Amino acid sequence: MSRARKALQGFEPYDPAFTPCRVNLSANENTHDVPMPFFNALREAMASTPLNRYPDPMADDLRRQIAERHGVEVENVLVGNGGDEILFNLFFTFGGPGHALVTCPPDFSEYANFAKMCEMPVVSAWRDPETFAIDVDALVAAVNDVQAAMVVLTSPNNPTGDLVDPAIVRRLLDETDALVLLDEAYVEFAGVPELLGEDKSLVGWVAENPRLMVLRTLSKAFGLAGLRVGYLVADPAVVDMVGAIRQLYSEDVIAQSVAVQAVGHRELMVPVVADIVDQRERLAERLAERLAALPGARVWPSSANFVLLRVPGAATVRARLRDEHSILVRDFSAAPGLADCLRITVGTAEENDLLVDALTSLVKETA
Ligand code: PMP
Repeated sequence: MSRARKALQGFEPYDPAFTPCRVNLSANENTHDVPMPFFNALREAMASTPLNRYPDPMADDLRRQIAERHGVEVENVLVGNGGDEILFNLFFTFGGPGHALVTCPPDFSEYANFAKMCEMPVVSAWRDPETFAIDVDALVAAVNDVQAAMVVLTSPNNPTGDLVDPAIVRRLLDETDALVLLDEAYVEFAGVPELLGEDKSLVGWVAENPRLMVLRTLSKAFGLAGLRVGYLVADPAVVDMVGAIRQLYSEDVIAQSVAVQAVGHRELMVPVVADIVDQRERLAERLAERLAALPGARVWPSSANFVLLRVPGAATVRARLRDEHSILVRDFSAAPGLADCLRITVGTAEENDLLVDALTSLVKETA
């Protein structure tokens, strides 16, 4: 341990606390069956990809397809092995001692982890403990106080589910000098399903705002978490800089060719996204109903494919859901600002029914 770089000591391999279960609603994956024409396009791409050649390092075919999706230039697009790789590479590129990252926790915990690995100081501008609203004055002040290198906002936020008000992004661009990273991993679930997030995304702002960087992924709405494809839409100077330090072949040949087809056939995923959005509203409503009698319980509204709720004894509830009902959800009760909080991924109608029934029976026992 002591031989490792000092900033890395104490880190441990990521453990998502996964247990094989009948229903897994713990990792914000897309649990729906993929529509057959979409699946066939992916399968054909896989079958026709030679494996003996190295991948195209910058994945230009995929960049072109993504650029077409968003109406931006190819030079604005950087592809990575999941959004995670891009986050790490951004912090590695722009962080380091004295180059701070400002976050708005509770948010995606990997921001702070990756930043610390890159020796990038992390400054927290905490959200309201009950509503999770961002205090924009405090946020702008925090960024300016430390002359932060970067500020990250998540829209919709994981795990709180709320969209970022574009006025907050505007103020950060106008009133600070920081790079503004907007993580839109879940944005496809936030607007009209037919538009797959384009009505809520700020990708369109990048051309006019060279300090804005927007992160997207195929892991959520596209149902491709296992493929590992994420991308950044940003100023060409950012794309070139991060493109220069990334692992040469981090996006493998299968991932590239399947992702080209996935983005090209994205309209086929609209019914799936529409169903997840419907299911989310139904799930949140029913959870709120069932928990109404329980003092301290709360369900937050969500624009993503998950719902955050507070339930007394959350850690026990999570363990009993797993052990007695074979349903896996994510327990955040040990995370700062998320006491007694569980995050439930929106599954299929059948999965959500099983979850609601199981939770109702556990809650009845404790009431
Ligand atoms: N951003 C947020 C907010 C996330 O929740 C996740 C995945 N959990 C990611 C980025 C990264 O996703 P991926 O690496 O699968 O693209």
